[in-house]
Amino acid sequence: MSSRLYNLAVSAANDAIRYDAEGKVELAISKYLQAFDILMTLIRYTENKKLRDFYTDRAEQYLARAYELKSIVGKSKVKAPALTDQKRLGEDEELQSKILSTIIPEKPNVSWDDIAGLEDAKKAIEEAIILPLIEPEIFGNTLPWKGILLFGPPGCGKTMLAKAAASRCNVTFFNVSAADIMVKWVGESEQRIKVLFEMARETQPSIIFMDEIDALGAERTGVESVVSTRVLSQMLQMMDGILSKPDDKVIVLGATNRPWVIDSALLRRFDKRILVPLPDLQARKQIFKVTIAKMPNFKLAEDVDLDELAKLTEGFSGDDIKKLCIAAWYIPIHELKEQNMLGTGAMPRPVTRRDFLEALQARKPSVSPEEVRLNEEWNKKFGAK
Ligand code: ATP
Repeated sequence: MSSRLYNLAVSAANDAIRYDAEGKVELAISKYLQAFDILMTLIRYTENKKLRDFYTDRAEQYLARAYELKSIVGKSKVKAPALTDQKRLGEDEELQSKILSTIIPEKPNVSWDDIAGLEDAKKAIEEAIILPLIEPEIFGNTLPWKGILLFGPPGCGKTMLAKAAASRCNVTFFNVSAADIMVKWVGESEQRIKVLFEMARETQPSIIFMDEIDALGAERTGVESVVSTRVLSQMLQMMDGILSKPDDKVIVLGATNRPWVIDSALLRRFDKRILVPLPDLQARKQIFKVTIAKMPNFKLAEDVDLDELAKLTEGFSGDDIKKLCIAAWYIPIHELKEQNMLGTGAMPRPVTRRDFLEALQARKPSVSPEEVRLNEEWNKKFGAK
């Protein structure tokens, strides 16, 4: 709901700014007022105070500009000055608004109990992120760790850990992919990073979770390499801005499956580097439990032994186990379909050991032993809890 409203507000503001720049005053006024109205509704649905302040600030700007345009038109019928002459809504504003519309803070709802195993990583995150944010009496206004890197094979819980940390401390949470910034937003990458950090600052305390952070420093050639260098230097600059201001409560939580690719200057900004490994036997059993518990109408037959399944899935990531559960769950659903029973109110039968074994035959671990080895070796050399 909130993100839809926010998108609508940004879209109206973008239109307003465009009309304003084109001198289409009446249209600009109506769009500014529309953006204002939507933001005021959005504010009512937003619990986070910093975010509310941010929306309020925007709403005030749009209202002020609408009134300014109205007074100019009313007084002299003279064409209002183009938006580019204005101080606050400057030249970059259109691009900034556009970028803002795709940088939507989330309100994750993941608890530590949803995450199986990963005790070391949970402890490190608890001490580095959560305690300083929830115990201001002890830590004052200072966050001891603002650059934290989660690394390890894909699908093992890095995103879940980041979301659980954000849920626990009730911070504004930005979830972005560095690969998207580099590839999907070519030509806007630097501004996107700038706007992201500015927004995180305005809505602090906040966490920027940047997945695939290695994409920022990946080797490139020709024009791409120039772009990549500029984006990386923007990222370094923004991180330095945060690190150098003790009162700024913005944490950058980077994540990668290939930490060895990260640019060394960027890596230095991450004081904590935490390995998120493949689940061990106990964790795999627990992942089966939490995954099945979340799936609607997933009933286990009595012959299913989760200890056996945990043993059979050595080398599987948490995500692999989730997909295996879905595949097994589909077998009884498929049977219902074959019998034309879907939509009749009939429920699928419980999932049996045989279903799991059948699903297992068609699924292999998605993580290669080589990926695991490289991450472990990198941890020995550069890991820092
Ligand atoms: P990537 O590197 O590909 O971004 P990731 O390490 O961020 O992956 P997540 O997105 O956190 O992995 O996990 C993907 C899914 O796998 C989760 O939604 C969850 O269903 C399952 N999963 C992974 N690890 C765990 C875990 N430790 N406990 C419970 N579920 C898990």
